[in-house]
Formats: sequence, structure tokens, C-alpha cells
Amino acid sequence: MSETILEDIFTKRSQQKKKTSPLNYKERWFVLSQEKVAYYDFDSDKGKRKGMKGSVDLEKIKCVEMVQSEPNTPPERLFAFQIVYDEGPLYVFAKSEDIRTQWIKKLKEMVRFNKDVMQKYHPCFWLDGVWLCCKQEVKQAMGCKVLDSKNGFSSNASRRRGSRKPLPPTPTEEKCVRPLPPQPPETPSPSVGMTVIAEYNFAPVTPQDLELRKDEEYTILEMSDQNWWKARDKYGKEGYIPCNYVVEAENGLERFDWYSKNMNRSQAENLLKTENKDGGFLVRDSSKAGKYTVSLFTKSGGETGGSCRHYNICTTAEGQFYLAERHFFSTIPELINYHQHNAAGMVSRLKYIVSNRALPPSTAGFGYGEWEIDPHNLTFIKELGSGQFGVVKYGKWQGQHDVAIKMIKEGSMSEDDFIEEAKIMMKLRHENLVQLYGVCTKQRPIYIVTEFLSNGCLLTYLREGLMQHPTAVQLLEMCKDISEGMAYLESQQYIHRDLAARNCLVDGNGSIKVTDFGLSRYVLDDEYTSSAGSKFPVRWSPPEVLLFCKFSSKSDIWAYGILMWEVYTLGRLPYERLNNTEIVDQVSRGLRLFRPQLANEKVYNIMTSCWMDKADERPTFQELALTVQDLLYELQ
Ligand code: ADP
Repeated sequence: MSETILEDIFTKRSQQKKKTSPLNYKERWFVLSQEKVAYYDFDSDKGKRKGMKGSVDLEKIKCVEMVQSEPNTPPERLFAFQIVYDEGPLYVFAKSEDIRTQWIKKLKEMVRFNKDVMQKYHPCFWLDGVWLCCKQEVKQAMGCKVLDSKNGFSSNASRRRGSRKPLPPTPTEEKCVRPLPPQPPETPSPSVGMTVIAEYNFAPVTPQDLELRKDEEYTILEMSDQNWWKARDKYGKEGYIPCNYVVEAENGLERFDWYSKNMNRSQAENLLKTENKDGGFLVRDSSKAGKYTVSLFTKSGGETGGSCRHYNICTTAEGQFYLAERHFFSTIPELINYHQHNAAGMVSRLKYIVSNRALPPSTAGFGYGEWEIDPHNLTFIKELGSGQFGVVKYGKWQGQHDVAIKMIKEGSMSEDDFIEEAKIMMKLRHENLVQLYGVCTKQRPIYIVTEFLSNGCLLTYLREGLMQHPTAVQLLEMCKDISEGMAYLESQQYIHRDLAARNCLVDGNGSIKVTDFGLSRYVLDDEYTSSAGSKFPVRWSPPEVLLFCKFSSKSDIWAYGILMWEVYTLGRLPYERLNNTEIVDQVSRGLRLFRPQLANEKVYNIMTSCWMDKADERPTFQELALTVQDLLYELQ
């Protein structure tokens, strides 16, 4: 028998592996050995250990951390810690702070080289179907707090391996009816002290900002703001930088101009066709998570205007990479370098790098802590349209950054409340959300300045046939974009309240971004705000909103189903033959939209899952995003 390293009597919370098993707390005798943490029944009178009740193999442990106690916790349960392994968290309560610290320290030390060690964890309990810290309702949901270092240990192995768009957490096992697509390697979180490389130039806007020069190295000093990190350049100068402009220095593919992070198949085809160069290529994330694809444009092969080929980068059992023929390389950059000179099985060699790096991504505000924009820095170029709050114009900020400027018609918005909210909205940053850059509030009318998307409103884009024969992949990719933007909003506990195709915009390469989130709360127009009003989005609302004005992420889910329907009907009006009163009546009695011709059964199933009568039976956006990705994977 393996030697005992630590032993103590702890209270253990039942793990409720079955949904029906009750939540209870029992005293157990815990023993830590070289291989496992085991817990036993014991005879408290005789102080003797009895039969083993369960154990966790040390090699399966992913995280050991304290758990914050709840208000009114009984004294015997004040010092909680969690041992997280593949079956979820095991909650244990020590008798004192010292004992808890001793166990956490020892366990961390023993599991620190485990291969699945987590970077994020939940600091509070999972209780009654919800994480008390972040309110996510999926037990497997990724943690919401980043560990300072990988279980107290930071190594090169923990550095980022070719980052990709973070995937939403895995849905609960109960709801998962078929195997999920493979997950990419978990992207470890960057940490203070690490060296990063600038992917883009950044010119300081406030005195607190630090200039970024593409390809130069910087040291990260502070990461307390989710969008702006404090950094030092090689001359010792310090200041704030947009965190999405840098990548970790070691081995990320982001260093290479041929790598287009977060680009999907149709976007790659669009970009390559626009460049129109024979042998133009890029490397992108494959729809198969964790894998990469080379997209190559060729003018040979007889198709007028040229065509795109997509080659998956394959991996051998030994971890080597190869493309069309079996020429093996130990890294992807070496493989690309080889094929820049040799076609070796492909339609041509990789002749020209086509990059999506021409335009830097949006930042949360133009500079650190900067949300009031000086209107003198804005130039107005043309009118884009008008909406609930008045005219929207396209313009430039400081003569070079494209922006959309909403000029808020006086009396159309409760401005003071909005201005407060804008500070929160500005912190929301996701590639599928239209970025709020700031506001001009020192004059009337006030302006809301946002990211500009050159293809305008999604509804018009769909209705005016701007896609020309949309493919199944294109339509689903639109839905995927929206689901990911919404999954981010959901993770921030932010409710949109008016999700619809008219509130989504399309950028130059066909990506969709959600806009106007939360704005409906500031509209001063009874026709819009009252559910009986003529402008209320009745067609996008679930029964609980129509009947009781109960908004939640689940009412956004309903609207997402309707929005998917708009996408698959290329912009038809939902329930077009019914008026608002008829819709309220019929939808509450179970009427649902029909299956659009372009949607197959699986796609329609997603829509109908969003229209479950009971809000809690609808999926979460995290689950939806995964399901949509899964379907896309099947299509490609
Ligand atoms: P409101 O929020 O006042 O109702 P909208 O957001 O509907 O206004 O904007 C009106 C029109 O302006 C939209 O239909 C769209 O065509 C255009 N527009 C708005 N914001 C942008 C933007 N960020 N980029 C490009 N076009 C935009």
C-alpha cells in the first residue's frame, strides 16, 4: 500500500452525480497518497478508519483551489476547497484555514505536471444547477476566474499553442445526445510577466497608453482590466495597450502573416477571390476544432475567375505535420515554408500570402479608460440610414479610423441613464459584437460612436440578395457568428432584448456582428417599449415577454431562433400574414414558424429548440454555438 502523505477528517459534500441524488454533507476520513486522494467511512468513537467510500486518482485532477463560502455558512463548513477532476468538483471542508492551506499546497504541488490542468476555475460553488460565481447554468462551463499561474506553476508548456477563437464551454452531459466535435487544446491564459509580440501598430491616444510597433516585444505588467493591459517596451517605457493587439511570444502561429486567426471557409474564399492572385493562400483554423486548413486560390483548372482549394493540415501519430502528400515536418511554419517552394500534390505551390491583418481589430474604446470622444476628432462622410434614435453617419475618427456615428435625436433616449450604461457597454468586446468606441456627451445631440461595418444591416443584406446564391455553409456561418457574439453576452449576463436581423450588421468579409444590445431600455417611445405598442418586437418575443414582460437570456434565445429563421428565409417577415394581436394570441397557444425551404431538419431543430414554451427548456447560447459548429463541421 502506498505511503500516506496527509490525512485528516473533512466534511465532504455529496457530488450529486445523478440528478436525483440529494445534496448532503458527511464526515469522511481523507487520505492523500502518492497516487490518489481516498476517503473513508470511520468510527468516530474508536477513531478507526473503515471502508473506502471513494477516491480520485491524482493524475485525473485538473485543479485544486479554495471555494468562497456562502453567506450564513455554518462554522463547520467555512474552509472549503475543491478538487476538480473529470467528474466535476469534489467539495471538501477543512476544520481550519491552516489545514485547508496545507492540503491545497500539497495537492497543487503533486498535480502540477498533470496534462489537463485548468487555467480557469469557478471560485464559488455549483449549487442547484448554477455556478454561484458567474451564474452559468452548465456544469461543465469553463471557469470564470483565471488562475494567477497554472496551479502555482508557470512553464513554457503552459504557453499558448496557436490560439484560436475561444470555444464556448461544453454543454451538460445530460443534454448532449451525440458526441461533441473535438475540442481544441485549451488555450492557456497569459499571465503577468510574460513576453508578448505586437501583431499590429497602436498609436497612443491618452497619455497613459503605450505605443505598439508591429513585431516588437513587450512585457506584460498588469492585467486587471479585461481589455487594456499595462506593458513595458524594450526601452523601459510603460503604459496601457489593447490586449487583442498582442500575442504571446512563444510559438503561436499568430506571428505569421499567412495565419488568419478566426477566419472561416467562406471568408477565406471571399478574401482570396478579392485578391485574385494565382497561388494566393492563407492558413486558417479548420472547422474541426484544434486543426488548421490551408486555403489556396488557383486560376488553373478551367473555372472562370479561378477557384479555391482547401487542404487540411494532417498530423501523424508521432505529431508530425503534412499536407497533400506525405512530406513530414515537425512544425506548421516549416511545412508552409516547404510548400511555398513546392506544390508537392497541391494544385500549385503557395505563392502569395493573403492576409486579413491589413485592418487591426477593434479596441474597447480608442485608448485606456477613454470613453468620452472629442467631436472635433470626428469627420462626417455620408449618411448610412436612420433608426429609432435618428440619423446614423459613416465617418472617420482622427481622419483615419472608420466609425459609425449615431446622432441621438433629442427626446428619443433617456440620455443620462444611457451615458452611465455606456461605460459598461464599452467593456464588452467580442469579434461578433459591434464595438462601442465611446460617446460625445458634452453637446446636443449626443453621439454614440461605434465600429463601422461596410456591408450594413443584415436584414437588407439578406433581402437584397447581396450574397448571390448563398450556400448552406454561408447561412450556417452567419448563425454561428451570431451565436458566438450572443454566447459572450450571455457569459457577461447581458441581455440584448431586441435581437433580430435588423440589429445585426455585416462586415466587409461577410462576418456578422450583433449591435444595439441593451439599447432598447433607453428608448423614449411607448410604441416601442410597451409590449402592446406598434413598434414592440412582438414577432421576436417569447410568450413570457408578451404576457409578463419577462426578459432573460432565454428570451434572447427565442429571438435567436426567429433570427435564424430570418436568415434561412433570406429576410422574410416572421408570421407575415398575422398582425401583432394575432401573434400574441397564437404564439401563446403554441403556433410556431414553419421550416424555411433552405433549412434542413437539423437546422430547423435548432430553431424549434429556441421556441420551447418553457424558457428553461431552451438551450443556452453556449450550447447553441457548439451545436451550430458541430453542424458546420458535418457540412464541410
Ligand atoms: P437606431 O439604433 O437608431 O435604430 P440603427 O442601428 O437601426 O439605428 O441604424 C440605422 C441604419 O444605419 C442601419 O440600418 C444600418 O444600415 C446603418 N448602420 C447603423 N450602424 C452601423 C454601423 N455600425 N456600420 C454600418 N452601418 C450602420
